[in-house]
Order: sequence, then C-alpha cells, then structure tokens
Amino acid sequence: MKVQLVLISCLVFFQQCSFSQPGPKKEQQGVPKTSSNTTNTTNNMDSSKQNPVYSRSSSEKVNLSEEEWKKILPQEVYYIARQKGTERPWTSRFEDFKEIGTYYCAACGNPLFKSDTKFDSGCGWPSFYEPISKGSIIYSPDNTHGMKRTEVMCGRCKSHLGHVFEDGPPPTGLRYCINGVVLDFDKKKEK
Ligand SMILES: [Zn+2]
Repeated sequence: MKVQLVLISCLVFFQQCSFSQPGPKKEQQGVPKTSSNTTNTTNNMDSSKQNPVYSRSSSEKVNLSEEEWKKILPQEVYYIARQKGTERPWTSRFEDFKEIGTYYCAACGNPLFKSDTKFDSGCGWPSFYEPISKGSIIYSPDNTHGMKRTEVMCGRCKSHLGHVFEDGPPPTGLRYCINGVVLDFDKKKEK
C-alpha cells in the first residue's frame, strides 16, 4: 500500500513578536540643580600659619625685607600689601560684609578697623570712616596715576592697605577705601 502522505504544510507562522514594550523609561533622576551661588568667598585665612610676625596683640613694629615678605605672605596679599596693588572692585568678600567684629592687617595682624565704622560706600571696596586708633594707620601722599590721593598703610608693618578720601560720612567725613585682600576679620569684639 502506498500510502502517500502528502503533507502539505504551508503554515508559515510569522510571529512577529513586536512587543512594543514601553521600556522602563528611566526618568531623569532629578539632578539637583547646582546652586549657582557663586559668591566670591575668597578669604585670607591662615596668613598666621607660616607668618612669624603675625600677631594681633603685639604693637612692636615689623621691619622685613621685601624678600622676607614674599616668603611669608600669600601671593595675593603680597601683591597688594607690598607691591601696592589694587584688587578688582566688587571682588572682596568684605565689600558687602556686615558681621560684627574687628578687621586686622592680613600681613601682620595689627587691628585696623572696627565693624561699626564700616559703611556702604558703593565704591566696590570695603570702606570705613575711622581707623581703630590713631596709630593703627599711617598716611603717605600718593601722586601716582595722575591723581592726588592719600595712601593708607598699616601702622605696624607699613603694608599698603588702600587710600583715604574726604567724601566719607559723619562723624569723620573720611572714607578709608581698603583692599579686602589685606584684611583679616575676627568676629570677636576687640576689648
Ligand atoms: Zn600690618
């Protein structure tokens, strides 16, 4: 017997398994928005660290060679204090700084100004109307840059601090316009 088994199987299954699975879409994890608070927080910390003349209590005058200063001062302090540089306006953290305390010379620690004599001059540099004492500051005529100005220096180490102008508020009418780089601040009140 001839059993012809004709198997015609024309069954073609095209199984298109195109499961369009909604893939686990990774929701962008809320990347915390980097706070764009880029306040200039430059500070002149640690100038006392390798600075043997830094003292907030000594009134002994400091006389160092420029070479010695260069070794013990941070570069930006050296540039202002010893080379009579000027920091860019609006860059000092002290420009809009309202803490109560005392400002010291960043080069030698000499107390210079009290926070209650600081005022908003709008000139771009920390401004005070009166030094902490008569001897804390020394003055020198400065006729550079085609201007007649009065330079102010630290009374202990003669570092350049800035200039004084006669357009300040009462009671002195003076405006001590000081480079923030050469200032150290301490919250504690000087007694
Ligand atoms: Zn000083």
